[in-house]
Amino acid sequence: MSIQGGMEKMAKTAIELGCETVQIFSRSPRGGKAKPFDAGDVARMKQLFDEHDIRPLVIHAPYYINLASVDEAKRSYSIEVLAEDLTRAEVLGASFVVTHIGHKHRDEPEDSSQALCRVIDSINRVLDTYAGPVKLLLENTAGQGRELGSAFEELGKLVHVFPPDRVGTCFDTSHAFGWGYDLSDPGNIDQIFRAYDQLVGLETLEVIHLNDSKMALGSRRDRHEHIGKGGIGLEGFRAIINYTGFKPDMPGIMETPTDTPAADEDNLATVKALRITA
Ligand SMILES: [Zn+2]
Ligand SMILES: [Zn+2]
Repeated sequence: MSIQGGMEKMAKTAIELGCETVQIFSRSPRGGKAKPFDAGDVARMKQLFDEHDIRPLVIHAPYYINLASVDEAKRSYSIEVLAEDLTRAEVLGASFVVTHIGHKHRDEPEDSSQALCRVIDSINRVLDTYAGPVKLLLENTAGQGRELGSAFEELGKLVHVFPPDRVGTCFDTSHAFGWGYDLSDPGNIDQIFRAYDQLVGLETLEVIHLNDSKMALGSRRDRHEHIGKGGIGLEGFRAIINYTGFKPDMPGIMETPTDTPAADEDNLATVKALRITA
């Protein structure tokens, strides 16, 4: 959801759409200083979410964050912005901040261990700066342009370094498909999430990003598509949404295109119709 126009307006739009959980950027995802929130506006948003049982609120950190940067000034800035977003999330009553891990430099070796060491150092510095209750979630990526955290093995190596109450994971279906996990076949779903459980841990998983993919399986490219209209397809999503191995009440967030006025409404109706309610 967009927060242009304020938090109360965002909450009203979420209610109109029939959202059960919401993700926002707390600041411009492309750059610039974060604006302080208006306390009254935030209080009215919180009250609306309480009344309509919309939870959790999830914050997505800006895209320019690179916790693996070889440029120390850029890495310090990423640490600062991420710690600030965790603080801003707490002000908003959000439970989670989702971030992409970052990417290697083009001159670095194929082996990612040096880059992962920088990421671990960065996250430790974020956790030293922000000590509150909001949990940091590391999101899997499609592996586009030396991005880290695409393979479950790599995400698992990272998340297990940190206290489980401070750092967890977010699983994006489009990113996983782009990397090469074939979520389009309902017969694969159990095996894919069992692998996730072994290598990353389903107990670390707090949020699922439900996005279909415009790009081919294993293309290492990330372009989101409307639910059911991309490579994963409706049957893939039916199996993912109804997978019984997740924690109860797993929030599903869509980051699908908004190319038509009714796009959000349509995608929400599609995923709700796929859900088998007991
Ligand atoms: Zn993301
Ligand atoms: Zn995502």
